[in-house]
Amino acid sequence: MRIAVLALQGAFIEHEQMLSKLGVPSVEIRQKRDLNQSFDGLIIPGGESTVQGKLMRELELYDPLKKMIQAGLPVFGTCAGLLLLAKKIQNDDRIHFSTMDIVAVRNAYGRQLGSFYTEEFFKGIGKIPMTFIRAPYIEDVFGEAQPLATVNNHIVAARHNKQLATAFHPELNNDLSVHQYFLDMIKS
Ligand code: GLN
Repeated sequence: MRIAVLALQGAFIEHEQMLSKLGVPSVEIRQKRDLNQSFDGLIIPGGESTVQGKLMRELELYDPLKKMIQAGLPVFGTCAGLLLLAKKIQNDDRIHFSTMDIVAVRNAYGRQLGSFYTEEFFKGIGKIPMTFIRAPYIEDVFGEAQPLATVNNHIVAARHNKQLATAFHPELNNDLSVHQYFLDMIKS
């Protein structure tokens, strides 16, 4: 198995390190020709959704990646990556891939409470560490999406078929379970 990591901006190296700890090689997607390699899943890292969205369009990665996700390529978006997958962002007119049946709120915790750490239950895993950095949350899931974790009554992780999104950053803690969950999801 090989996993592609969108490597335009944000915390992509941390995802590659998690994959490497799980014995899975990664390929970086930086330009169109990187898509010619074969890979079994895609990780969209945290960072700035607006910057990543703009760069993907400029580099002509947006259309081919969207088509691959629509065709069933398993994808895991963290934080900004969640925003790139959401069909609706409550407080932003921009939408990006728009493939996941979730309504997100951008910078949902405000500027003061923007970054925090907690431990909560993740469906199918148990209690895990969760680091939030100027994070969104999921205001609602609809259609085929299911919530997987909530913090203070807000949904912070969801799954829609082979699409997984977390508002927090599992790549910033030592716990490998969410990455393992994504790999199991690909295999299932
Ligand atoms: N606030 C960022 C955004 O709107 C997301 C933050 C993150 O990915 N850590 O894209």
